[in-house]
Amino acid sequence: MRETNIQKMIELLALVLHCPICAAKYNAENTNVIETKGMEKTEESSMLVHTDCERCKSSVVFSISMDGPEIFSVGMVTDLTSADAARFRDADQITVDEVMEFHNFLETFDGNFAGVIR
Ligand SMILES: [Zn+2]
Repeated sequence: MRETNIQKMIELLALVLHCPICAAKYNAENTNVIETKGMEKTEESSMLVHTDCERCKSSVVFSISMDGPEIFSVGMVTDLTSADAARFRDADQITVDEVMEFHNFLETFDGNFAGVIR
């Protein structure tokens, strides 16, 4: 799908998608495409879109899948900026071991951040 078609899709989605916090309609100008897959094909494609609500200032990442005439979207409220969402999209997942390691660290952490950062 050419860039102009992606822009048209964003404008269409901005009309359809509402903020899950305050129900305001999204503005296409505050909507950024983070990732597209299969947009050159007509049957199956997907987009990862970040949008900021003008009214309540919350941010939502939408995963949008298009399969022929059907469009599915899942939204997730986030504190990531559009740039953060792009930066972290290819990051490795946090493992259970990493979570346990951090849990164990916090159990003995004395609150001295300066000491830890050094
Ligand atoms: Zn809102």
